Amino acid sequence: MQRHNLVPQEELLKSTQAAKRLHDDILSRGLTFYIESYGCQMNDHDAEKLAGMLQSCGYQKATEKFEADLILFNTCCVREHAELRVFGNIGALKKLKDEKPQLMIGVCGCMMQQEDVAQKLFKRFPFVDLVFGTHELYRFPVLLEAALNGERTFSVTQIDGEIAEGLPVERNGRFQTNVTIMYGCDNFCSYCIVPYVRGRERSRASSDILGEIESLAQAGFKEITLLGQNVNSYRGDGGETSFAKLLCMANEVKGIERLRFMTSHPKDLSMELIHAMAECSKVCSHIHLPVQSGSDRILKRMNRGYTREKYLGLVNTLRENIKGIELTTDIIVGFPGETEEDFSDTLSLVREANFSAAYTFMYSPRNGTSAARMEEQIDKVVKKERLARLNELQAELLKKSNEKFLCMEGTVLVEGCDTRAVPMAYGKLENFKMVYFPGDETLLGQLKRVRITKTQSNSLFGEALE
Ligand code: SF4
Repeated sequence: MQRHNLVPQEELLKSTQAAKRLHDDILSRGLTFYIESYGCQMNDHDAEKLAGMLQSCGYQKATEKFEADLILFNTCCVREHAELRVFGNIGALKKLKDEKPQLMIGVCGCMMQQEDVAQKLFKRFPFVDLVFGTHELYRFPVLLEAALNGERTFSVTQIDGEIAEGLPVERNGRFQTNVTIMYGCDNFCSYCIVPYVRGRERSRASSDILGEIESLAQAGFKEITLLGQNVNSYRGDGGETSFAKLLCMANEVKGIERLRFMTSHPKDLSMELIHAMAECSKVCSHIHLPVQSGSDRILKRMNRGYTREKYLGLVNTLRENIKGIELTTDIIVGFPGETEEDFSDTLSLVREANFSAAYTFMYSPRNGTSAARMEEQIDKVVKKERLARLNELQAELLKKSNEKFLCMEGTVLVEGCDTRAVPMAYGKLENFKMVYFPGDETLLGQLKRVRITKTQSNSLFGEALE
């Protein structure tokens, strides 16, 4: 079977050997680490790999950032003011480093993949010991060893990323976790920096993904979210395996009860996938389908590759084929050139699509993207006002649409327990709706049938059924 872009075994071995060399000394000194991670689920999952590699080097997890012997910033460049925030938080560590010179400070993640930003950071903060980009993640133990030996280390390469299999992962959850199925993105939406910092699309082999899911099932995980910037364009095994096929294979893994995936690009959402979602019993009745705008003119300027009509058509097809499906979305307001008419198109699409959640953002330019160079940038006051109107509409629609869940029954995977007054267990229904119901921590990790007894704008409340 053809496998693309794998990091050569000898390179991975160098990392394993560096971790082994460091392990005993670091463990005997009881050194600890703290990772401050920003951004999306992909970055959170990278943080789990970084934590796994640090543990293989002998470090233990610190509970408090300021007590740790190594602080690692896993940065993201997607959100507004990301650079200001990260630079501010790193600058604030200078005093701590002066008091505790043996403290190691590292910075990685997609912001560091932007070489100019990484260089600027490395120059501005001479107390930072280690900077590396997203394509170097698997080399972390090698780079860390150099930094621990007193070599200030900077490693950002522009070689398109490869796939590193078999890295140790320290997972945050006990019942629900993420499995990356592909890396990078080829879509070049005009506002987005991701293709520049995460490289071209590359899919993991289905056997590696299924092997990981099987071992997670054996470790007691019940719900898996398959991750990728655009899972719909997954092409594993030399193009032989589509995302729909992969989903069907994952559906067969014993011990896994639920499957989710994130994120789906509307232009690549196929009928094959919709049928797979309908037929695979473990695939949850929820899809996150970012629309970004309801105006064809703006969608074109965003380079999204679909029209409003096509998007709404998909919404209908999903609802016709998948019982009880709920949709969530992302929307950007104030994209360059967005007129009041374009914005009204977004509002009307939101009314028509009836999302169960919308993650809404004001457009803000990212250096290096084509939208940042567009004329007709929208005034911040206008953007703010549009965002407020959109959020108001979404909240109103949500309140109404939540009412339909009253008296309905569903299954919750209990992921937490709030012990304040009356102990309340909580978790998500198959459709991604959060439900709270009386229950304690003995229910953690269980799938419980519940009936909804009360609805609010953002949450549902229920009672457990026998
Ligand atoms: S699909 Fe578009 S928005 Fe999503 S990561 Fe790729 S370029 Fe960015």
